[in-house]
Amino acid sequence: MTTTGLTDLPAGSVVPTRYWHPLADGRVQCDLCPRECKLGEGQRGLCFVRARLDGKMVLTSYGRSSGFCVDPIEKKPLHHFLPGTPVLSFGTAGCNLACRFCQNWDISKSRETATLSDIAGPEDIAAAAAEHGCRSVAFTYNDPVIFHEYAIDVARACRRRGIRAVAVTAGYVNPEPRAEFYRHMDAANVDLKAFTEKFYHDVCAARLAPVLETLEYIRRETRVWLEITTLLIPGLNDSDDELEQLTRWVADRLGPDVPIHFSAFHPDWRMLDRPPTPPAILFRARQIARANGVRYAYAGNVHDRDGDTTFCHGCEAELVVRDWYRILEWHLTDDGHCQRCGTRCAGVFEGPPGHWGPRRLPVALHTGHS
Ligand code: SF4
Repeated sequence: MTTTGLTDLPAGSVVPTRYWHPLADGRVQCDLCPRECKLGEGQRGLCFVRARLDGKMVLTSYGRSSGFCVDPIEKKPLHHFLPGTPVLSFGTAGCNLACRFCQNWDISKSRETATLSDIAGPEDIAAAAAEHGCRSVAFTYNDPVIFHEYAIDVARACRRRGIRAVAVTAGYVNPEPRAEFYRHMDAANVDLKAFTEKFYHDVCAARLAPVLETLEYIRRETRVWLEITTLLIPGLNDSDDELEQLTRWVADRLGPDVPIHFSAFHPDWRMLDRPPTPPAILFRARQIARANGVRYAYAGNVHDRDGDTTFCHGCEAELVVRDWYRILEWHLTDDGHCQRCGTRCAGVFEGPPGHWGPRRLPVALHTGHS
């Protein structure tokens, strides 16, 4: 826990929160995520952006972002949700996990309020998304669980304009706030970082079980479109046995239609002692997934035509051929059926694909709260 910087926060960035309760020993417990931080006055939780102030839990990063960018939706990654369309992406600071391999550590482990340089209220963000022709807004770069109130208000403002909301998350959240959060989301990519409690404990300082609960909750209790990402780290979570268990669990508990993206690791943050993931491991992971009944298994962070292609599970035809974030071929009807055999491809398809391509367009938003 830390007590830094709670006295000089910008006006409007500190808002009350709902998920906490007082403890008998005088501390308060945050009930938002399974860490359940117990805080004295003036202390911040592990996520850094939630803190105890005047006896209550508050969010200290409302309306403040680490920056906005229009990305391809494929970059989230979401391959079955409005393919080819642009998505206005942003994050804040902090994270409720502590992954040693974090690829966004400059944001997620930030202790600098300067990281949160862009000020933007929910209406500003929805308006910017509309202005740039975005079909959705994504909460990404760090985990939206920790800026719950801000993310929900942004999603509400977007819905009023017909713009969807996308969560890119580790799924580490308690049941009650989870239910509220996903009522406002349209799609999610959830990181399933490994399939052992040991990995979650040793590498992320977290637990696997709540993440599996979140995955089952999204799939069974909501209409949110779900895809999964697993970053394969050589020697840590890429054994055949673990991949067998993980993919069998996904197919059995979530069904065959939830896509999995097996993503290549590159050395980062506090994990510089592992080599990059060889492409052969991504290939093997996809093979195992498909053998276990997962219909859509992809390779990420590499150029791999086959690993980036969506195949029809009815006739094995290529449906969507991609190169990284670019769509090269499209063989679906406007409502997502195979043009060859008519089998429906799982996902959210509305008309022809977008043409955003691999572009990344930074967007400045300094309009203040609304
Ligand atoms: S959301 Fe933050 S403060 Fe709350 S329990 Fe999780 S890490 Fe702790």
